[in-house]
Amino acid sequence: MDDDPGPDRAAEREAMLEWHIRARGISDRRVLDAMAAVPRERFLPPSTAGDAYADSPLPIGHGQTISQPYIVALTAEAGRLKPGDRVLDVGTGSGYAAAVYAAIGAEVWSIEYVPQLAEQARAALADLPSVHVVEGDGTLGLPDQAPFDAILAAAAGPDIPAPWIEQLADGGRIVMPLERVAGWQQLVRATRRGEDLALDDLGGVRFVPLRGAHGVR
Ligand code: SAH
Repeated sequence: MDDDPGPDRAAEREAMLEWHIRARGISDRRVLDAMAAVPRERFLPPSTAGDAYADSPLPIGHGQTISQPYIVALTAEAGRLKPGDRVLDVGTGSGYAAAVYAAIGAEVWSIEYVPQLAEQARAALADLPSVHVVEGDGTLGLPDQAPFDAILAAAAGPDIPAPWIEQLADGGRIVMPLERVAGWQQLVRATRRGEDLALDDLGGVRFVPLRGAHGVR
C-alpha cells in the first residue's frame, strides 16, 4: 500500500510468531515460515500500520478488518496448504491472508465483495504474480478456475455455500466460520473424499458476516 517499505520489522514478526502463533499451538512449518516472510504492515493504512503486529484484527475501512494473525495461521494450517495448491480465498479484505497463502507456494484466487477493497488489495499484492484478485460474490466460487484444493473464507455464513462443494477437488478442504445460531461462530473444516464431506470443528471464532447469494440473509 505504501511505496516506501520502511524499516524491516522482522523482529516484531518473530515475536508475533512466538507469542501469538506458536504459543497457541500452530506448528506447521510452512505456515510459520510464510508468516515470518510477509510484512503485515504493507496491508494496513498508514494510520494503523504501527500496530501491524498487535494480536488483533484492525480496521481497513468500509467496516471491514484485516484478520488477526493467529486466525490466518489457523486457517492456513487447517487448510493443509502446500506448494502448488490452487486456493480460493473468499474475502480478500486487505490482501494479507492471500499473501500468506501465496508465500506457502499456493496459486491464489482471492475474491472480494467491496470493489474499493478489491482495488486496494490488488495494489498491495501487485508484486505477487501467484495472487489473482477478483471483485465479486465469493459465495458463488469461481467456476472457471475450479477445482480448488482449498477454499478458505474470512467471513461467517449460515452454511457451506453449495458452489464451494461443487468446486472442491477430491481431497480438497473448505475452511470457513459457520454461524448457525446468531452470535455463535465456529470454524469448521470440510474435507472432500469422493462424494463424502468430512467435517471437523476447529473451535469458536469471531468473523465479519459473509454476504452474497449464499451468505447471511
Ligand atoms: N483475509 C482478510 C480478511 C478480510 S475481512 C485479510 O487478511 O485482510 C473479510 C472480508 O470478506 C471483507 O473484506 C468483506 O468485504 C469480505 N466479504 C464478505 N462477504 C463476501 C463475499 N460474499 N464475497 C467476497 N468477499 C466477501
